[in-house]
Amino acid sequence: MKIICIGRNYLEHAKEMGKSITKKPIFFLKPDTSVIAKKQPFFLPDFSENIHYEVELVYKIKKVGKSIDTVFSKDYYDRVGLGIDFTARDLQAECKSNGHPWEIAKSFDQSALVSEHFFEISSMKNLNFSLLKNGETVQKGNANEMVFNIDQIISYVSKFITLKIGDLIFSGTPSGVGSVKIGDKLEGFINDDRVFSLYVK
Ligand code: MG
Repeated sequence: MKIICIGRNYLEHAKEMGKSITKKPIFFLKPDTSVIAKKQPFFLPDFSENIHYEVELVYKIKKVGKSIDTVFSKDYYDRVGLGIDFTARDLQAECKSNGHPWEIAKSFDQSALVSEHFFEISSMKNLNFSLLKNGETVQKGNANEMVFNIDQIISYVSKFITLKIGDLIFSGTPSGVGSVKIGDKLEGFINDDRVFSLYVK
């Protein structure tokens, strides 16, 4: 299983990072070792002074595919969950300024929270999602606000990398990203359903 993450896929988030949106999707990978085990908290790693949460809709691939045409993308997924793309923002800034790859900032152990529950997309009228930190809403978005929708993402990524059953696509974060500290509680919602609750330790 691999995790494919899309960058700068919501205009307001690109702006808050001081960036513009791109003509093609930007993506990077997290390894399977990045997933936080069930019922575990997020332990702040010692190599960063500035770990950020990024809440994202996560799509699960259900069929093997390569070079998928956008009109056929829908055959490759039918479920959506919610996740957090934890990011060592200080290391990422260093990587960016040196023109280096991002892995140390994005792909470290426990850098990916994935909700246990995934919803059948066809059963949902709306795909609103949000993140609460210590009871206050810090991020909210809707799938319609993506710069590149999931069908376009699947088509683009599969030109380069074969998608396999169980692969996850983190589809980008809306604005409102911020740092976490020990003791914080993060709760993720899809529409009115709470799909995860996580403590930072
Ligand atoms: Mg992200």
